[in-house]
Amino acid sequence: MAEQTGNLTFGIIKPDAVRGGKTGAIIQRITESGFKLRGMKLIHMTHEEAKGFYDVHRERPFFGELTTFMSSASCVVLALEKEGAIKAWRDLMGATDPAKADAGTIRKEFANSIGENAVHGSDSEDNAGIEIAYFFSRLELV
Ligand code: GDP
Repeated sequence: MAEQTGNLTFGIIKPDAVRGGKTGAIIQRITESGFKLRGMKLIHMTHEEAKGFYDVHRERPFFGELTTFMSSASCVVLALEKEGAIKAWRDLMGATDPAKADAGTIRKEFANSIGENAVHGSDSEDNAGIEIAYFFSRLELV
């Protein structure tokens, strides 16, 4: 993807937030923060798909819990565009543990726990490319 030059990142609205009816409010926060939606769809991952997505964490003690949670219900996957998108989206998400997240962040406002923490965001440009390609075909990115 030629346009993928650091201005695109990948996000997920996780099952806790979708189940809790927070999708609309989170999308509003994202667009009000200046992100352009380049891709968006509702999915329900199988356990195998969740394990593939989080493969980097397979040795971590919470891998089973995380992948079971992520395949427990629907998620919204997002391709987001903004200048400096990787950092901007992680700043808007807040710290992994909502108890440590700054006021005004999505996790502070919407997350329940370190495991069920409302949103995912890519941590690097390389991973954003890999993660967007895991969920979106070229035709699904506008
Ligand atoms: P992130 O980049 O802020 O999402 O955090 P990490 O890359 O460190 O972890 C990935 C995801 O694994 C987090 O968003 C959480 O959903 C989950 N996770 C991280 N630490 C824990 C933990 O201690 N317990 C559980 N159950 N899940 C965790």
